[in-house]
Amino acid sequence: MDDSNTHKVDTELGSMTEQGNVDAKPPDEPHNVVPLPLPHPPPPPPPTIDFRIQFTTATKFDNRAQMLKWVSDLARSLGFVTVIVKSDNEAIGRKGYVHIGCQRGGKYREYCHRKSEQKMTLKCGCPFKLKSYLLSSGQWSLNVVNDEHKHEMTGDFQGHKYAQRLLPEEKELVRELTENMALPRNIMTTQKKRRPQTATTMKHIYNIRCRMNMAIRGSRTKMQHLMKCMTEGKYLYNHRVIPGTETMSDIFWAHLDSVKIFNTFPTVVMMDSTYKTNKYRLPLFEIVGSTSTGRTYPVGFAFLSQEKEDKFVWALQSIRGMLLCQDDMKVIVTDRDQALINAVNIVFPKCTPLICRYHIQMNIKANFIKKAKLGRKLRIRTVWRHVKIL
Ligand SMILES: [Zn+2]
Repeated sequence: MDDSNTHKVDTELGSMTEQGNVDAKPPDEPHNVVPLPLPHPPPPPPPTIDFRIQFTTATKFDNRAQMLKWVSDLARSLGFVTVIVKSDNEAIGRKGYVHIGCQRGGKYREYCHRKSEQKMTLKCGCPFKLKSYLLSSGQWSLNVVNDEHKHEMTGDFQGHKYAQRLLPEEKELVRELTENMALPRNIMTTQKKRRPQTATTMKHIYNIRCRMNMAIRGSRTKMQHLMKCMTEGKYLYNHRVIPGTETMSDIFWAHLDSVKIFNTFPTVVMMDSTYKTNKYRLPLFEIVGSTSTGRTYPVGFAFLSQEKEDKFVWALQSIRGMLLCQDDMKVIVTDRDQALINAVNIVFPKCTPLICRYHIQMNIKANFIKKAKLGRKLRIRTVWRHVKIL
């Protein structure tokens, strides 16, 4: 036991006695001292695993790719990942060879000096090594140089950079599926069905998609590319920038087909904002029309930087500009957003503003049932009977 700790405990007991504590133990009784935790035992030496038998083969491979695939598949089944350490492509006067090592071989070389970056590495100096040579017959031989691994094998390759790589044909598949508007999660499912042992993650699929988008965009900025896509896609758009800057604050767009339908069925229009639809956290203001057959169609959309009256006025003026006869709009249905209702009264003073039934119903559910003490199990139809004034 440490002397300093004994002294500390004695001092504490002494101070308790001095204060007249009746529960304090007499000095001749053994002190109840908490023992110090033992120092951590040294970590056990890494296990040495020998795979000489598994990789010793008299088979000659027809080509380099076949040899690499055989080695890679066998290594995976044993619980580690192989990498090409060194190779030479049969240049003039030189013999083709490939040196294959374990992914955990070598030392970690620091390339990032930021302190915030978490430094983690799998490398532990594993000495495993295979050598393959191109024979004069055109075939490839395989020899075991070092059969030892200085680490444990794994069955889960998540986080192993080389094991997560997509094969060239898989990358092509991601590109094709992305062009056909497949969602990343569906692409991932397809990959796993084709190659169940794949350790790839969603990040790899997103990276390929990002590279594709950058290649399509070229030297244009994101906003320039958006404008180009809207023009090519036959969209009518309008935007505003923050005064004194080049930063876009609001954007409104509508398809030319929507403009045609809107001019045919302009009588009833519904408006509402939805949230969490984009990474910029901008509310999406959506305008939907209704046809004479009771079906709905999109009129236009706007990303507004704020849900304020002047923003809604700007968006509604954009809609008004789409109409050939501006008095055809009769009814505008909104939620109970006062800023939007005010904007409707400013831009369309002749229209009848109505509040959406769904929003009234939600409000009754949230407030009326609680205030009238009707009980939670009451059905909404029954509640309507209790509502006298709306
Ligand atoms: Zn190894």
